Amino acid sequence: MIEAAIKMAAENNKYPQWRLCTIITKGGSVISMGESSYRNSPKHNEADGVNCSEHSEIAALRKVSPNRDLKGAIAHVARVSRGGRVSIAKPCRGCQKALREAGVKRVHYTESEDTIKRMKL
Ligand SMILES: [Zn+2]
Repeated sequence: MIEAAIKMAAENNKYPQWRLCTIITKGGSVISMGESSYRNSPKHNEADGVNCSEHSEIAALRKVSPNRDLKGAIAHVARVSRGGRVSIAKPCRGCQKALREAGVKRVHYTESEDTIKRMKL
């Protein structure tokens, strides 16, 4: 699944300097996908304190229907640098909190071209 996230991040042109993608899965099926974007959003999560961008994790969470149970879900987060290299995509504290509160139990994120890290929330 992380490969799909990497591919989507590479194609994300909403925020060229910070191309990230989050795919949320549960039981092997895709529940939601989100991309980082630069535009300001009235629903922006102020808690993460990062200027006016929308993080891909938050974008993905917003697309989940309210009655969908995310308990036990996994978030796959990938980042592709401006130069096209896979780079570190560790979720910030605000996103970790938002994912955890939504019920997501683990995050798999890219660290470099050949390293995928796993984190328990
Ligand atoms: Zn974040």
